[in-house]
Amino acid sequence: MKTIAPIEGLISNLNKLPGIGRRSAERIAFELAARHDNLLQDLAAALQEVARNTTLCSRCGGITGLAENPCFFCAAPSRNASILCVVETAMDLLLIEKTGSYSGRYHVLGGKISPMRGNGIDNLKIEALRRRIATEGIKEVILALNSDVESDATASMIMDLLNGMEVRVSRPAMGLPAGSGIAFIDRITLNNAIQNRQDFQTGGKKEEGGRQKPEVSGQRSSPFATQAPPEALPRREATGNKEVRGQNNI
Ligand code: ZN
Repeated sequence: MKTIAPIEGLISNLNKLPGIGRRSAERIAFELAARHDNLLQDLAAALQEVARNTTLCSRCGGITGLAENPCFFCAAPSRNASILCVVETAMDLLLIEKTGSYSGRYHVLGGKISPMRGNGIDNLKIEALRRRIATEGIKEVILALNSDVESDATASMIMDLLNGMEVRVSRPAMGLPAGSGIAFIDRITLNNAIQNRQDFQTGGKKEEGGRQKPEVSGQRSSPFATQAPPEALPRREATGNKEVRGQNNI
């Protein structure tokens, strides 16, 4: 089908967005082009506003305003600076923040390892994570990644790269079927999953083997609001070369 050039340009750009296939991109583009109100102009202005006045936080990689860098989460002195919650995207950061119970800091990877999309380890902010752990007095890293194969591979890769660093590494007890992600969990379940996070180790790197981890237990140092952990939250089972241990009290 022959498409008018400007609309084809819009379709191809929409098609680059996650979750927008060619058919959806065509539907949106034709809907926008057919509108006789100001939606198209308003949308263009909003996109330009975001492009001109937002950037990635120089510390955590989340989205922030040009005039607020480092971002609020990195700069706020009231937040627990010894714990980093590592997420794949800035949207995941927002979802965890909406639980209202986490008050540590964040680190946004900018995606996950994905051979299908040509996304390798060099495309992720893992070296920046290592640098932050080494220089910011980080005692715990929570790998709040999704529950699919690529996210699990990314978590294992990060765990290997952090080997030898004196930091506790944990993952949320997601309580949802494999293949799901943070964006598909309701706020309460996400909150419980993080509160019930478990130590995360790859095969052959057991704590008894010499890996020293700082003590971070205790309500006083917890970045979470005091709340009794649920008793019946489904747990992540040990699979493959991963070993998980229960670690409810934080
Ligand atoms: Zn930040």
